[in-house]
Formats: sequence, structure tokens, C-alpha cells
Amino acid sequence: MSRRILIFALVMFVSACGLTGPRSMDNEGADSFEEDVRTARSLSEEFWKQQFSQLGRVYLPINAFIPYSGGSGPNCGGAPAAPNNAFYCSAGHFIAYDQTWMESLWSEMGDGSVYVIIPHEFGHAVQAQLQAGFQLNVQAELQADCYAGGTLAALVRSGALTAEPGDENELITSLEAAGDPTDDWLNPSAHGTAEQRQQSFLLGYSRGVTAC
Ligand SMILES: [Zn+2]
Repeated sequence: MSRRILIFALVMFVSACGLTGPRSMDNEGADSFEEDVRTARSLSEEFWKQQFSQLGRVYLPINAFIPYSGGSGPNCGGAPAAPNNAFYCSAGHFIAYDQTWMESLWSEMGDGSVYVIIPHEFGHAVQAQLQAGFQLNVQAELQADCYAGGTLAALVRSGALTAEPGDENELITSLEAAGDPTDDWLNPSAHGTAEQRQQSFLLGYSRGVTAC
């Protein structure tokens, strides 16, 4: 199945001019938010399964993929889930996301937001499997951005996702707005600066996850 990523930087630009609202990201115009989320999850896990296999390792799929709304999210090791957030919880090896928040990004910015945020969270799920004593910090966040870029590039190369020529450069501009707010992504020290995040994403996108 081929899916088209319309890059939301473009959508944002056009929207800012008041010319059009958000538009569908695929040729058929039939994608739903739920479908994009499901697809982003399954493609990310399939990608990492193959990567692990090439290393002679076995990728451990996440235990759960949990939508929530506002403050109703699952606890992670006793810590409550924050509204307007998506996160990986190593204590339960699951990913949870505020679906109201993510759907608003999806409708305002396009499906690229989903295809950046979810691969980023799977990047953390991978870190937790590869790194003893895994914990979130700026370095882990930037590496997850790099993993997200590498994942996305591989999916475009394989034909699972379709990007227009030049989309790569536009895609990275999304990180500032659609990055993963694991804790407080508006705090520059939490995830690195927008520029660092874009550079990390681009590193993965241009050279693959092994460069991360
Ligand atoms: Zn993160």
C-alpha cells in the first residue's frame, strides 16, 4: 500500500496564507487519523523488526499502544500521563498518546505529524532494548529524532510511504512544532533545540538509523 506524505510545512505555509484548510495526505483522500496512527505503528515496528534481525537480535514488540484523552492516560512507573503528550514507558514497554492532541496536529498540520511522532516514540522503545539503564535525556531525545528520520527514509525508500521530491527538507521543519513532548518539549533543554532536533532527524533521514 502506498501512502503519500504531504509535508505539513507546506500545508502550514498555505494555511497561513488563508488559502486552504488542511488537506488529505494521500491520493485517495480516504485516510483517517486512526488509520494513519495504525499504519505508523505497524510500519515502525516492521522496520525495527528487520533492523534487529540484521543484527542477529530479536525486536520485542511493544506491549500496548494506548490512546488517551487529556489527563486520563496510563501511569508509567507511578508517574501520571500528561495531557497533550505522547510517550514511551519503559516500565511497561508501551507507547501512549493523547489522541485528541495528536488528532489536532494531524488535522492542522497533516499526517506527517503522526509519521514523525510515532517513529520517534518507537525510537525510545528501541533504545530501551539496546541500552542498559535506558533513561530519557536530551541525548536520548536527539537519537530518537535521528531514529525517526531513519525510519521514515527507509519507509519512503521501500515504497511503504511516498514523499514528493524536496519533501525531506520540509519535513524536518516539522520537528519544532510536532516534536515529541515527552515531558515539556517547550523547554529547550528537555529535547535539545529545534535546530539540534532537525539536524538529528536529517542525519537519520540522509544516512539511516545506523548513523544515529
Ligand atoms: Zn522522546
